[in-house]
Formats: sequence, C-alpha cells, structure tokens
Amino acid sequence: MLFEHVLVVGAGQMGGGIAQVVAGSGRRVFLHDAEPGAVERGLETMRKSLTKLAEKGGADPDDVLARIEPVGDLVPADLLVEAVIEDADVKQEIFRRADAVLPPEAVLASNTSSIPIVSLAAATQRPDKVIGMHFFNPVPVLQLVEVIRARDTSDETAAAITELARELGKTPAVANDFPGFVSNRILMPFINEAVWALEEGVAEAEAIDTIARLGFAHPMGPLALADLIGLDTCVAIMEVLQEGLGDDRYAPASLLREHVEAGRLGRKTGRGFYNYG
Ligand code: NAD
Repeated sequence: MLFEHVLVVGAGQMGGGIAQVVAGSGRRVFLHDAEPGAVERGLETMRKSLTKLAEKGGADPDDVLARIEPVGDLVPADLLVEAVIEDADVKQEIFRRADAVLPPEAVLASNTSSIPIVSLAAATQRPDKVIGMHFFNPVPVLQLVEVIRARDTSDETAAAITELARELGKTPAVANDFPGFVSNRILMPFINEAVWALEEGVAEAEAIDTIARLGFAHPMGPLALADLIGLDTCVAIMEVLQEGLGDDRYAPASLLREHVEAGRLGRKTGRGFYNYG
C-alpha cells in the first residue's frame, strides 16, 4: 500500500472529507487543525457522512473513524495533504514546517484550488516531492482528483500520487501548474459571471441556477455551488486568477466580496446566496 500514514492538515469541509476517504482506504490518518474544536467538528461531520454511506453498504463508521487520530501539531507521516484556508502565506508556512517534520522521502501535497504549487515547493528543500492533489467537494462523493505537477515535481512523485488517487477509488487527471489549474480556471469565472448577472438584476438567484441546471444539465446551479464551495474561497480563487493571469476580467464580483465582508460565506455559515436555516 502506498503512503500508509497520511497527515491531513485542515479539518474543514475538504480536509475532513479527505481524511474520511483516506481512512476508508485502510490507511492511518493524523488530522490536525489550528482552530480549537475544528477536528472534533470534522469528526462529527465524517460520522454523519459515513453513517449515510453505511446504509448503502459502505464501511462501518467506527472502523473508519478508529483510523483517524487527532494531533495537536504536524507529525511525521509518509504523505502530507494540506487543506487549510486558501491563503498562500498560511500554506507556505505549513510547507516550511512540514519539510522540517516529515521524513525526507515523504511527499508534500496541497489541496489548493488555485495557489501555484511552485510557491509551496519553494518553501521546502524537496521541490521534487511537492505536488497538487486537488479533491472535489463533497470528497466522499465526487470522483475527480486533479493532480498538479509543478516545475520540479518528479515523475516518481506524480506517478505515486496518481496511483494513490486510484487506490482511493478516484479518477486522476493531470494538469500543469497554471493559476486555477484546469478546474477553477473554467469553473470560477462561470460562478463569478453568475454573481454579476445577479448583481446587475439579469435574474433572481433561483432563476440563474435553474437555467444552469436545466439548460446546461449541471447538477447544481453556480450560485448554489458557490455557497457549497464557500464564498471566501471563491473570492480567494478569483484573486489568484486575476493576479496570476494579469487580467482584470477575473476580478471578483463586488456582490461576492460584499457577502464575504458580511460573514455570509455560504453553507458553512448558514447563509450565502441562499439561506440554510
Ligand atoms: P474550510 O474553511 O472549510 O477549512 C479550512 C480549515 O483550515 C479550517 O478548519 C481552519 O481552522 C484550518 N486552518 C486555517 N489555518 C490553519 C493552519 N495554519 N493550520 C492548520 N489548520 C488551519 O475550507 P475548505 O473549503 O475545506 O478549503 C480548504 C482548502 O481546500 C482550500 O485551499 C480550498 O481552496 C481547497 N478546496 C476547496 C474546495 C471547496 O469546494 N470548498 C474544493 C477543492 C479545494
């Protein structure tokens, strides 16, 4: 088995989902979050998800959760999967510390949606072992893992992470290290345009989402999807696209910023473009 011990840093919606899927594959997971109570909340969410999956024949939730160990700091492991907030400085600091704590042969992966992998590799002494491993939300349900190769990522690292994605029951697709990679270079401007349409009064939120669902056969409309992703994450990704591609057409819509400033981050705070009670 590749990567028997995996350190997941960040126990939010993505880190929790990643920990769940990795533990579900029989691996041991160390789960760390800087915010008190975040790991416990993550474990509760995982239990709910695992209980639903068990009703459809999935693994025993207790068996999976027993393989996840909360840790108060970074600890040695074969692989790091970093899933903290979309902030380059915060991520670079984690890569710098992980480089000192994890053994030299360990791979350091980031679940970033848009931050250049090369900037995380530069914080380490092992740029050949740094890679993007971008899961999709909700992690236990969605099949794709976008594997992002940075300038110095070795063939060996890319092959190991691609194989790990398969062992987790996912389908890997390899991209190069451009702002937003493939997925968010396409998805985020689409979401941002939907927010502009709402802001300019082209249609109500429900109508915009209905048009995308029924007209384009998308499972969710762009505004509901933005609420699921987190509006803070959407703004952060648009800023990376705007700066990285050097084009103001990628500037975050002002309504998106207003929601974030008001603390309406989407589902995770109970309110975004929609109300979640
Ligand atoms: P989230 O806000 O749900 O969780 C982020 C977690 O990181 C929080 O629990 C926070 O306490 C923790 N954190 C912040 N600073 C930390 C630090 N220094 N050390 C340890 N933990 C720290 O966010 P999320 O939606 O899970 O997103 C996490 C990452 O995954 C981001 O890079 C995001 O771009 C990426 N991503 C998100 C989605 C999505 O749909 N939300 C999809 C793919 C990738």
